[in-house]
Amino acid sequence: MTETTDVVVIGAGLAGLVTARELGNRGHRVVVLEARDRLGGRVFTENRLGRTLELGGNWLHWTQPHVWAEVTRYGLEVSRGPRSEETYWLAGDQVRRGNLDDFMNLIDPGMTRLLEDTTKWIPRPDAPLTNPDLAEVDRYNLQEMLDKLDLSEDERNANEAAWVGHFNAPLDQCAYVNALRWTAGSSGHWHLMHEASAIYRLKDGNDGLVNAIAADANADIRLDSPVTSIRHHEDGAVVTYGEDKRIWAQKVVITLPQNILHRLDVEPALSEGKLAPSRERTASQGVKAWIRVKGPIKPFFAYSAQDKPLSVIRTEFVGEDDAVLVGFGADANRIDVTDKDQVQAAIRVWRDDLEVLEVTGHKWGEDPYAEETWQIQRPGQLTKYHAAQQASEGVLHFASSDTANIWAGFFDGAIESGLRAAREIHAQVSAASATPAT
Ligand SMILES: Cc1cc2nc3c(=O)[nH]c(=O)nc-3n(C[C@H](O)[C@H](O)[C@H](O)COP(=O)(O)OP(=O)(O)OC[C@H]3O[C@@H](n4cnc5c(N)ncnc54)[C@H](O)[C@@H]3O)c2cc1C
Repeated sequence: MTETTDVVVIGAGLAGLVTARELGNRGHRVVVLEARDRLGGRVFTENRLGRTLELGGNWLHWTQPHVWAEVTRYGLEVSRGPRSEETYWLAGDQVRRGNLDDFMNLIDPGMTRLLEDTTKWIPRPDAPLTNPDLAEVDRYNLQEMLDKLDLSEDERNANEAAWVGHFNAPLDQCAYVNALRWTAGSSGHWHLMHEASAIYRLKDGNDGLVNAIAADANADIRLDSPVTSIRHHEDGAVVTYGEDKRIWAQKVVITLPQNILHRLDVEPALSEGKLAPSRERTASQGVKAWIRVKGPIKPFFAYSAQDKPLSVIRTEFVGEDDAVLVGFGADANRIDVTDKDQVQAAIRVWRDDLEVLEVTGHKWGEDPYAEETWQIQRPGQLTKYHAAQQASEGVLHFASSDTANIWAGFFDGAIESGLRAAREIHAQVSAASATPAT
């Protein structure tokens, strides 16, 4: 006999776990099916290189309302990496050195001009399609908008490297509106956007947040349970998972990342508004590397240029005789972040005095349950697909950071989307059960 439940949630990342918590705690029977042998999805905390490292999502901020509410709710402690004492950047092949303020002053004119129309285009980050003319600007990629600024070589390299750190992709594939949305989420201030996306982290690891939500969820969470198909009808759906196990549910919530959604076997098929952006893929295709170097060293920040294997590196942990750096590059084809020699060579762009001891990272592009890092849209994707990506289809509902309103691509967006999906389902199911039989 097929097992039955009220709601099946596919995926135990933040979006799925929040959906499960909200519904389970309102009395719905919830089963969460997670393909991996662990919770968290793109939140992936491990002890490596002698530290607690975030192989996936790292930073959060009080300007991100949904994630900060969770920090408060569970009393999680926040900390930050060491303040940088020196900063390196490139002018052509020449290495420049200064402090972080020097670098920020270098990129300030470019950032300010690039983002000056933020509130015109995205007056309401919580409703990103508010400006009816947004498609006019959504056709541009970030590179062409930077090129229009006609910056000096120093400024151009520096601005581009900073954006690779943010967007984890070649800039000519990234929609300019991503930059507007991030800045709109920071009330139009690019310095705040910079801080919101890359400074503060949970002191004991981001898995603390994942585990707190899971422990708080009145739900049956099943790991090692990859979903292979969904057959849905007007009154429910049959979900097949694992070794041909089946479960019937009144509602199903799908939280798969954009890049893999089109591969899920769903009948009747999902709408083109969901399948097309999945086949087009997100722009995000870069790397995050963790690098242990010999110490002692001073905490530093370094920016190169967008075409280098690593465009940004900086110290996240400083010990007495070692330090651990984090690095980002635009294209996973340019560097294997688990190869010490390749990483050592990438660092030589700035410094030949650092000895790499060990490296690690997760290859998200090759991960069958993600195939992307954090979501960055391609030109046109926001205005063409955003509404369709969020919309429910019959008994199927959708939650993912990739399709969030305010901080899409962040923890915050995952939580926002989970709250929305749960609210919709609870309202629909309650309304249906309240309707008197005629
Ligand atoms: C390297 C990296 C750095 C990042 N840095 C930051 C940062 O600093 N700050 C920040 O806020 N965000 C950051 N992010 C983004 C953030 O981690 C994600 O946006 C967020 O965690 C996504 O949550 P989600 O629940 O929407 O998706 P996911 O976490 O991807 O969850 C989807 C879940 O579905 C599961 N799944 C997939 N297919 C199936 C299937 N067929 N059956 C069952 N389960 C399935 C997956 O295993 C996964 O657990 C980063 C991400 C990466 C990868």
